Amino acid sequence: MDTHSPLAYLSAEIESWKQAGTHQRLRELESACEPVSRFDGKEVINLASNNYLGLANHPKLVEAAIDAVRRYGAGSGAVRTIAGTMTIHLELERRIAAFKNVEACVVFQSGFAANAGTVAAILTPEDHIVSDELNHASIIDGCKLSKAKIHVFAHKDAAAAGRILAELEAQAGRKLLITDGVFSMDGDIAPLPALVEAARSHGAIMMIDDAHSSGVLGRNGRGTVDHYGLHGQVGIQVGTLSKAIGVLGGYVCGSRDLIDYLCHRARPFLFSTSHPPSVAASCLAAFDILEQEPERIERLWANTRYFKSGLEAAGFDTGASETPITPIMVGEAKLAHQFSAALFEEGLFSTGIGFPTVPKGKARIRTIVTAAHSRDELDRAIGILSLVARRLGILV
Ligand code: PMP
Repeated sequence: MDTHSPLAYLSAEIESWKQAGTHQRLRELESACEPVSRFDGKEVINLASNNYLGLANHPKLVEAAIDAVRRYGAGSGAVRTIAGTMTIHLELERRIAAFKNVEACVVFQSGFAANAGTVAAILTPEDHIVSDELNHASIIDGCKLSKAKIHVFAHKDAAAAGRILAELEAQAGRKLLITDGVFSMDGDIAPLPALVEAARSHGAIMMIDDAHSSGVLGRNGRGTVDHYGLHGQVGIQVGTLSKAIGVLGGYVCGSRDLIDYLCHRARPFLFSTSHPPSVAASCLAAFDILEQEPERIERLWANTRYFKSGLEAAGFDTGASETPITPIMVGEAKLAHQFSAALFEEGLFSTGIGFPTVPKGKARIRTIVTAAHSRDELDRAIGILSLVARRLGILV
């Protein structure tokens, strides 16, 4: 880049990432998202996707998309609030609301838009947000957009959240207690019963981001609220359609008035075009599969247990994970990226994750097994991980 350009500082910053070994080139997926996928011209075991149930390339989802394109076209033509609310969008929202056992649901273009759009819409600068320190970036951005005062509590420390809410009791403004259901980089589960109790006893709104729990936890994948049997006690439940559901989108579930309010005030809903009808059609097909084939979720958890026990036997540090998201802790970001690159050469794709996605010194590679991986693929993955980790001194 021209060194006189006002944007030259970006080039300098990029150069510093290259020096630190944290600059990343995007890997190119040349096949469908499968347990073994082709990236950058190489067949690799794919432990890097969020395709928990293997639905991203499921024939029923693909057929539903093709059928919807033929009937309703490639795009919706407008934002939801103008002319872009199609019958199939409403059908999906009714379907999700029934599945989650709530009054109503609204679908956003992404989970990110659902979180950020919701928090920003319902709070004002006079209000307070009490937020787990490891909450997802989309929650953090929503909190900032709302301009409410943000109070961060130590990860999963419900007692600390309760103490903050108690201190805030004398202050004006609404209080929102917000947590991820499953934490995306650590794979641990929020202590929802204790958080719900803290919110209830201090009159706070309880909100959960179930991006990594939808389709994974609870009966037929109904999420963290169902997992803990807390129906009716969490005011706002966000979920994604982009991970276990295998497609794209995010949704908010709650009372009829909450959803009506968001349809009038959530900015991504008002100002960004709605999903193509094919997206809604594929999501509907995915909910059919969740309800009709619970064995997929059982297979996901059986694979998770098998893979985790293999990693533990090999001597890996898998942090606090309790779900299919299994980090392998390595410490420094540079080593995590080296580990990821060397694994790829040996036929396994798992992403290196460092600062700012996780705190400094807590870099890791992140693995996610899916229901679609075979035992043979998982055995090969554990073999490759052990081999490369020994070579790099991560395992001794
Ligand atoms: N919340 C969490 C916890 C996530 O991990 C993600 C995806 N990275 C999102 C929200 C955003 O979801 P989407 O990819 O559908 O925008």
